[in-house]
Amino acid sequence: MNAPAASSLRTLQHLIDARLITPDSAPGLVPVLAKYALSISPEVGAAIAATGLDGPIARQYVPSAAELTQTPGEQTDPIGDHTHSPVKGIVHRYPDRALLMPTQVCAVYCRFCFRREAVGPDYGGLSEAELETALDYIRRTPQIWEVIVTGGDPLILSARRLEAIFNALDNTAHVATIRIHSRIPVAAPERIDDALLRVLGGAHKPVNLAIHCNHAAELTPAAVAALRRLRKAGIMLFGQTVLLRGVNDNAETLEQLFRGMVAAGIKPYYLHQLDRAPGTAHFAVPIERGQEIIKSLRGRLSGIAHPTYILDIPGGAGKVPVGPNYLHGHSGSLLVEDPHGVTHTL
Ligand SMILES: *Cc1c(COP(=O)(O)O)cnc(C)c1O
Ligand code: SF4
Repeated sequence: MNAPAASSLRTLQHLIDARLITPDSAPGLVPVLAKYALSISPEVGAAIAATGLDGPIARQYVPSAAELTQTPGEQTDPIGDHTHSPVKGIVHRYPDRALLMPTQVCAVYCRFCFRREAVGPDYGGLSEAELETALDYIRRTPQIWEVIVTGGDPLILSARRLEAIFNALDNTAHVATIRIHSRIPVAAPERIDDALLRVLGGAHKPVNLAIHCNHAAELTPAAVAALRRLRKAGIMLFGQTVLLRGVNDNAETLEQLFRGMVAAGIKPYYLHQLDRAPGTAHFAVPIERGQEIIKSLRGRLSGIAHPTYILDIPGGAGKVPVGPNYLHGHSGSLLVEDPHGVTHTL
């Protein structure tokens, strides 16, 4: 395989030149790229080269004709963002926290993304006026205790634009804490530079960063160095993982990932059941299988390395934990299962 390109891969020709796809598969992918954005950053390109074309990183990022297959139950807005949006750029589903989405652009595009119908360079982001309206909604809604800046990937914004958002949130008294959701620390770690660190570390309110990472091979030396810089700037790091067929749907892979996260200073937060976005059925893992995997890690993996297995109920009803259950029976004759599968009477 070639050395990784110095800039991101954004066209089928780029993928052919990087030998990520063959020329004869390209025509079948034209309709995929007509629907869904493509970008593979140099850091991800190198991780693909290290793990192979059939490997867990290639599968997350290299487009496939399987994305054209729609199955019943898939929805363009799988978790009901749209029905909970009071103004453009805000999703307010839970009383105490609201999402602020300043941009729909990402450094890389994941083939299983739950917002795939709404992310990409063609969707841009909020204008200055729209951003001001969104911030006003936060200012005049006192029950918003936490603002979750997401997108798209908010860390794609310039330090100057991010600083304007952080200043506004810092100056809104009822906002106690700021959370960012991003893939950039692992997908484009070079963006975690001094200017960005000054903004993230300069807020008076605690800043929590939830990093989307699905495989230990994404924790490259450059990513681990970026995570160290973030921690030194005073940012708390959380991990978000999507359970994906052919990427991380076995106990050994998840164990390595969660250990890798903790070793890099990330607390694993959520393991997400895949949201049913269009053309993603080839990534789906049944919930029962997910529970089985999680169960096999109990007792063998440090407690702080366990995330909560979470389902976002289709249609926008909310997130709920769907991890394995250890209690059986009913009150009066309750049985509890230990990590070895032995049941005990309570
Ligand atoms: C996922 C999500 C959140 C955050 O939920 P947590 O359980 O606090 O991580 C908030 N708002 C919306 C609309 C969400 O989809
Ligand atoms: S980085 Fe996040 S928002 Fe962007 S494509 Fe991947 S999953 Fe979707």
